[in-house]
Amino acid sequence: MTSSTPTEKQWKKLRTSLAAWYQSAKRDLPWRRTNDPYAIAVSELMLQQTQVVTVIPYYGRWLKAFPTWRALAEAPESAVIKAWEGLGYYRRARNLHALAKAVAEAGGELPRNEEGLRSLPGIGPYTAAAIGSIAFGLPLAVLDGNVMRVLTRLLALSDDISRPQTRAKLQELADAFLDRKNPSDHNQAVMELGATVCLPRNPMCLICPLSAGCAGRDHAEDFPVKARVATEKRKETVAILRHGNRFYCEEVPEGKPWHGLWRFPDFDPERMKRGETLATIRYGITKYAVTMEVVEAKWKGRSPVSMAVRYLTTEEMAEFAFAAPHRKLAKALSIKKAG
Ligand code: SF4
Repeated sequence: MTSSTPTEKQWKKLRTSLAAWYQSAKRDLPWRRTNDPYAIAVSELMLQQTQVVTVIPYYGRWLKAFPTWRALAEAPESAVIKAWEGLGYYRRARNLHALAKAVAEAGGELPRNEEGLRSLPGIGPYTAAAIGSIAFGLPLAVLDGNVMRVLTRLLALSDDISRPQTRAKLQELADAFLDRKNPSDHNQAVMELGATVCLPRNPMCLICPLSAGCAGRDHAEDFPVKARVATEKRKETVAILRHGNRFYCEEVPEGKPWHGLWRFPDFDPERMKRGETLATIRYGITKYAVTMEVVEAKWKGRSPVSMAVRYLTTEEMAEFAFAAPHRKLAKALSIKKAG
């Protein structure tokens, strides 16, 4: 069920109310104080699937470590992954690194048109619209989770947002809503409204600048509609192999989740003897709810030797980027040692 699409006159009214609200309510965020396309691209990649409060310290540290496209392009991948450690979705860090290499190779500047932006590695429709509008004022409407929530509520649109057809329809609506004279502020305003007022739970419709024209405000939490992906349970066993005060760790090879990060190995009954259970850690990854049992273990034969394995002390582990549940385990080992 959908209320009718706003006329241009109605969009204009909504746009004007939103713009006035944004000028008075926008948060003072570090990436709003710069015009540097590189810094804007960094913030956009970091903000995908991660909250503003989490991103702020990473953004500052990142720009100190890699202040330009060239500095990032020349950095080793291990340093890039380490600087991203804890932000999750590491593909974004690799994309940013690949993007920096492409930009540096092309002379150090981003193209100032949608086609050029989309031709670069790691830049999809959302990132092209965000960077294009914010850094260069291109009239491109962004469509992320916040924007989809605002639009589906505004129009009481109950189509499943996981369907490509719905995404296409929402992109058309976002395009119609866009303030083409000020796409940068407009895009940031819709995202800001979604992040601070039109919240997933308990949206603040009473103070919302779009309230008068919002078809879904009386049952806002019914939107957006998204088909649920069933969570699957998964068990795994991870081995702690000691050598004095050092622990066997390995780098995750290419083609596997967490590629480029470090972790403790899976327990392998062919090659390892199992000892006592030390801990159980639970975590979620994509559609899996994982129960990770941590066991003491010993090698049956010789310990493997390669560039991708190391025996690390808990202090040395701090120098490597670890996958989040394995970082938790590394911290637990260092606390146990200190205690
Ligand atoms: S009135 Fe409520 S539901 Fe509608 S856009 Fe504003 S906060 Fe969201």
